[in-house]
Amino acid sequence: MKKISTLLSVAIFALACKAQEQPRVSQTKEASSYYFNHKPKLVVGIIVDQMRYDYLTRFYTKYGEGGFKRMMNEGFNCKNNHFNYVPTKTAPGHASVFSGTTPKYHGIIANDWYDKDLKKSVYCAGDESVNPVGTTSNAGKMSPHRMTTTTFADENRLFTQMRGKSIGISVKDRGAILPAGHSANAAYWFYGKDQGDFITSTYYMNTLPQWVQDFNDSDVADSYLKPWETYYDIETYTESGTDLNDFEEGFKGKETATFPYDLGSLKDKNGGFDIIKGTAYGNSIVADFAIAALTGEQLGQDEHTDVLTVSFSSTDYVGHNFGVNSKEIEDTYIRLDIDLERFFKALDEKVGKGNYTVFLTADHAAVDVPAYLQSVKIPAGYVKAKEERVQMETFLQKKYGANFIENISNNQVFLNRTKIAEMNLELEDVQGALVNEIISYENIYKAFSATTMSTTSFPIGLEALLQKGYNQKRSGDVIFEYNAAYISYGRKGSTHGSGFDYDTHVPLLFFGKGIKHGQTFEKTEITDIAPTVSALLDISFPNGAIIGQPLEFVLE
Ligand SMILES: [Zn+2]
Repeated sequence: MKKISTLLSVAIFALACKAQEQPRVSQTKEASSYYFNHKPKLVVGIIVDQMRYDYLTRFYTKYGEGGFKRMMNEGFNCKNNHFNYVPTKTAPGHASVFSGTTPKYHGIIANDWYDKDLKKSVYCAGDESVNPVGTTSNAGKMSPHRMTTTTFADENRLFTQMRGKSIGISVKDRGAILPAGHSANAAYWFYGKDQGDFITSTYYMNTLPQWVQDFNDSDVADSYLKPWETYYDIETYTESGTDLNDFEEGFKGKETATFPYDLGSLKDKNGGFDIIKGTAYGNSIVADFAIAALTGEQLGQDEHTDVLTVSFSSTDYVGHNFGVNSKEIEDTYIRLDIDLERFFKALDEKVGKGNYTVFLTADHAAVDVPAYLQSVKIPAGYVKAKEERVQMETFLQKKYGANFIENISNNQVFLNRTKIAEMNLELEDVQGALVNEIISYENIYKAFSATTMSTTSFPIGLEALLQKGYNQKRSGDVIFEYNAAYISYGRKGSTHGSGFDYDTHVPLLFFGKGIKHGQTFEKTEITDIAPTVSALLDISFPNGAIIGQPLEFVLE
């Protein structure tokens, strides 16, 4: 009897436990489905290379309802969004948007920079340890190995146990590689010349997936070797300067920088298929490829959030070639707007309206062509960097009997520290003497030594921007900034790189799942984007994101 009662009590106890367990199990299930339902299935991060904020407003009346305006009208528009470091260039821009930090921490101090240890110039994405895939060209020897921190795409991979995918796409290798991060499934970029294909490297895979091979085998690239004419009647392009002027470079083989451009006949003198990159069609082929990737990579199809990064870089080539006030720029943005509409429609169809979140920003903006500014009496000009270098060398030779300059690049002077030590000089003294010398040069507006950058804290202003771009391990001994609208560049076309507003002020638009409708003039910074996306996904912030803050007002 005792045995039976014991058995009975064990059975009752077991039943009771089971009864207790059940609600716990179903609660967890409910919680997890609640959790997944509140996350987008896909996050799309779009960078428009060299996009100024005023392109949204200057060309507003020319845009359709489904591209930029859809983001502005359905989503959130941060109208006072800025880069918060110098130099405002492509590689640091892409790294900073997705890592939520600045060159000070992610280490991408420029596109190319002088490596103090290797004593030579290195390329931000160049990697001799990997091989090209989809080409035999060195254009495939690329990886993100020089970026020292994670992107939000990396953190999403870690969070989802590698179940959420990360794919990066651009015509520029660095525009595809840096955003997608270290643990990306793939980054694809466009290789022109005689090939016209999207390629990758063995960092990601050993052969291109079938969908990429199919895309390359199709005649998409060939189809863009056609005349580039304005989308609307050029007479209606009243938001830009005259088509024929003194401020545009143009393509080789065509006398004037004026519409139309017959890419088929111009291609041989302009890098073969590479000419596509320099026109509005470079954005179209990226949109085509991104749309193909939605199906090819099965993006946004399950509960594990995927990340797709798309960088439209042809805008930058067109800006450098024709300047920010050109008819070519206006047409490029009108056509990009149409490509965006096409891309958003594909997202609606393939991932589903309300299942994805998109943000759009730039990697930097650009200055008006200084020669044009001069013609309308605005202070601007050109710097003769070679002459300045001779002046610096002469100064050092006279003062110390030696020329310590190893390299000058990206407005940074790299000194020969070994030689300085051998001569029993203090590095700090030589840096300081050079700062005092160059600040007297006509076009140099600010100059600081590496020692000052490491020991003084600048909370605001250009000094703060220089400091956030200064990386103690990789940057030079003296850093400087030119006067506003003074550039070291040819007299035709626009460029970028400074800490002035024309280079820092860029669009920031969010729309889709989890995003409020609204707009703000409150100042936001480029390093806020990655923390905002991380907050939306409720995952860890990128590991170097110690500058930015989630923009709570954009989140539902
Ligand atoms: Zn550029």
